[in-house]
Amino acid sequence: MANYYNDINEIKFELENSPLMERIVELKERQYEDKDKYDEAPQDFADAMDSYDKVLDIVGDIVANVVAPNAEAVDAEGPHLEKGRVTYASKTYENLNAMIQAGMNGMTMPRRYGGLNLPVTVYTAANEIVSTGDAGFENIWSLQDCIETLYCFGNEEQREKYIPRVCKGETMSMDLTEPDAGSDLQSVMLKATYDEENNCWRLNGAKRFITNGDSDIHLVLARSEAGTRDGRGLSMFIYDKRDGGVDVRRIENKLGIHGSPTCELVYKNAKCELCGDRKLGLIKYVMSLMNGARLGIAAQSVGLSQAAYNEAIAYARDRKQFGKAIIEFPAVAEMISNIKARLDAGRALLYQTARYVDIYKALEDIARDRKLEPEERAELKQYSRLADAFTPLAKGMNSEYANQNGYDCIQVHGGSGFMLEYACQRIYRDARITSIYEGTTQLQTVAAIRYVTNGFYSQVIEDYEQLPVAAELEGTKARIKAMAEKFNACTAAVKEADNQELHDLCARHLYEMAADVIMCHLLMQNATKAPELFGKSLQVYVNLAEAEVEKHATLLGKLNPEQLDNYRQQ
Ligand SMILES: Cc1cc2nc3c(=O)[nH]c(=O)nc-3n(C[C@H](O)[C@H](O)[C@H](O)COP(=O)(O)OP(=O)(O)OC[C@H]3O[C@@H](n4cnc5c(N)ncnc54)[C@H](O)[C@@H]3O)c2cc1C
Repeated sequence: MANYYNDINEIKFELENSPLMERIVELKERQYEDKDKYDEAPQDFADAMDSYDKVLDIVGDIVANVVAPNAEAVDAEGPHLEKGRVTYASKTYENLNAMIQAGMNGMTMPRRYGGLNLPVTVYTAANEIVSTGDAGFENIWSLQDCIETLYCFGNEEQREKYIPRVCKGETMSMDLTEPDAGSDLQSVMLKATYDEENNCWRLNGAKRFITNGDSDIHLVLARSEAGTRDGRGLSMFIYDKRDGGVDVRRIENKLGIHGSPTCELVYKNAKCELCGDRKLGLIKYVMSLMNGARLGIAAQSVGLSQAAYNEAIAYARDRKQFGKAIIEFPAVAEMISNIKARLDAGRALLYQTARYVDIYKALEDIARDRKLEPEERAELKQYSRLADAFTPLAKGMNSEYANQNGYDCIQVHGGSGFMLEYACQRIYRDARITSIYEGTTQLQTVAAIRYVTNGFYSQVIEDYEQLPVAAELEGTKARIKAMAEKFNACTAAVKEADNQELHDLCARHLYEMAADVIMCHLLMQNATKAPELFGKSLQVYVNLAEAEVEKHATLLGKLNPEQLDNYRQQ
């Protein structure tokens, strides 16, 4: 691929075709108030869209010419550990330098700190593109978005100290997980104590599974309130590697994303700064940090699905059996069509989520400087809720799709797919982590299920049903409506049973049904505007989704309180 952005029309379509984009740019650019202060600031909407296109063109070019060609070598070499310090695989430095030299860091940060002031939607596209080239490298590069949390909750002194450094290319990490605190972060025990003598906080203890754990700037979740055991005793801290005190004890040996160092860390009286208020570390700041990171993993997953599609179709066109290219066998063509359909549907969900995030974040940012008008406050509330409801769908579904697409990509390759010479095995291995970190798919379901039971997804679906579609898609729309009715009926039955254990058992099925219907609608909207790009995928995806919804409905019909014991394995 000559350019990982320009050669993928579907990404461009997502950026250029949403009615929300104009509002996003208007809010992000605050009526274009930077235009006289910074040469690179856009003058108007068209200028802003043009500049996003140019930025993504640069990212697409770097990925095509540096990141993707380096991916196999980075995967084979992996990072190294010496005397508590990490060095990346040698070609990871080439990747990082290319990004830094092109100014692709601090992408969403305001210009006054040296950032590019890009909307989250555009940054999401960059993330997806980088991941298509190398998901392991994307992990390191995309941790720059931790700075968003520091920007939102740190004080001005901290913003001025850290944000310009990230914009210049320093890397970040989010240090949350510990051996006894994985999905359940309320159990974090890393100790933060106030050092009266030196007038600073100190960290002591250990963290594990920390991506890029030897980064320059860490956001750390730690227990600041002695004697507490739950989330209310946790605060968030900034650790600056320049101060010292944190060593890497080991780098994990992993199944995939080899280029990304996953570290066990030891904190020995490490000096740090409190970020925001005490006791809000998990409840407010890490929740916000993780929502951003979940969108990042959704983008990483879509990038991997695109990579799986690229590899599968290229191989199937080239490989001949029984005297013809294997793509001509319907069984092979079906696998590739399914990959493409899941990719297009998942991507539509990803960008819709990113747009919702953009609007509420931009309004929140404006609210830091002035009181919002009543209609702006209502808009903030609406989009904040949409973002909160869509983020776990985008992360959970796209990560599961990346796994399925990686699996199918290997299947298309036959025996060659099992060989290390082909990229598909790396894509398959790299995809496996996406449904685990930043909250497993089970935890995405936990985050989303209240929007099933309180009727929010049903309301969103009803709103989508009001949108016009191309005349030839009316029949498809009716099929999607029938799926929504099944989802509503299953939700009502689970609620009526009024049994918490049954509710938890059914949650994943309801979650997937909601996501399937929502993705059908988003893809149908895309196919209405660009049938040449999305028409086939829509029909394939609706076939898949209809079968999935039917499967879930059948299963949910069997699950009742009497069945619960069959699902208890002690
Ligand atoms: C390669 C890699 C990189 C990582 N990077 C980072 C990082 O940068 N920073 C960081 O802080 N952490 C990081 N992590 C940690 C990661 O976020 C956790 O591994 C993940 O959240 C799951 O936690 P756990 O491994 O302790 O599994 P557990 O929490 O022990 O989960 C085990 C199983 O139980 C299920 N489960 C647990 N609770 C529930 C529940 N309430 N309902 C239903 N099912 C449940 C899970 O879905 C899973 O299937 C990384 C992990 C890996 C492997």
